[in-house]
Amino acid sequence: MDLGLQGKWALVCAASKGLGKGCAVALAREGVNVVITARGDAALQATAAELRQAAPGVQVLAVAGDITTPEGRAAALAACPQVDILVNNAGGPPPGDFRDWGREAWLAAVEANMFTPIELMKATVDGMASRGFGRVVNITSSSVKAPIDFLGLSNGARSGLTGFVAGTARQGRLAAAGVTINNILPGTFDTDRLRSGFASVAQKSGQPLEAVMTARRKTVPAGRFGTPEEFGALCAFVCSVHAGYINGQNLLIDGGAYPGTF
Ligand code: NAP
Repeated sequence: MDLGLQGKWALVCAASKGLGKGCAVALAREGVNVVITARGDAALQATAAELRQAAPGVQVLAVAGDITTPEGRAAALAACPQVDILVNNAGGPPPGDFRDWGREAWLAAVEANMFTPIELMKATVDGMASRGFGRVVNITSSSVKAPIDFLGLSNGARSGLTGFVAGTARQGRLAAAGVTINNILPGTFDTDRLRSGFASVAQKSGQPLEAVMTARRKTVPAGRFGTPEEFGALCAFVCSVHAGYINGQNLLIDGGAYPGTF
């Protein structure tokens, strides 16, 4: 299927690894020019080189910086000639007990997982509307739909973003001008973040890492973790010309882990 995205420009945030990288690879393979960001320059440059090899015809620009800061966002936006596609992503907040979190921990979570994507939408969606095409994909979490008790910072901050998107995506001046805004909710995907979480569980419990991962895999009906490639494929489709009637949605991709009918 031709996704109809040749020559578009995408800003894919937090994309040197994991799910963001999966999205950047899938979009570049569809002929989309990409600006990718991450804080660590070495991994970012390595990913940019991989993208150029995977999609020789497209432009790949790498902008090192912290996307949760005004400077990081300004640099990313300045590098992108026009943002037709915005993939919002950043590291997730740490796990813990809400009794231990103060104002600073909450502000950091809200800054990274709610305010940053809202600021980037504010900077880009009216331009998208003026050109008659735009796609925003926010990478959130299955924990928005099925909250995880020790991820309270994530549950809270991402729910705030989800509420904002539910209203904004339906504004006529965006929706009727070809702009869609959707959230993609990952379940368990095999990325560095997932593995470091399991490594800390293994260390605390004294179990081997592989035993922790096997036990977790068994909780997913698919019997495995998702791959960044699968996540990227869904992102690319949601960004495609064929997905113009999908708007304001929360799309779960979790191997069947969420147990509800809806
Ligand atoms: P990952 O493999 O650790 O990759 C994170 C990427 O984001 C890296 O490229 C990292 O590079 C970059 N990054 C992190 N913080 C950044 C910042 N402030 N500014 C710019 N770049 C930043 O993580 P992942 O598993 O892909 O997770 C991506 C998001 O999905 C996270 O918010 C996570 O909570 C959420 N999520 C993941 C899963 C899962 O199963 N993997 C499930 C639910 C939700 P640098 O460190 O060099 O900046």
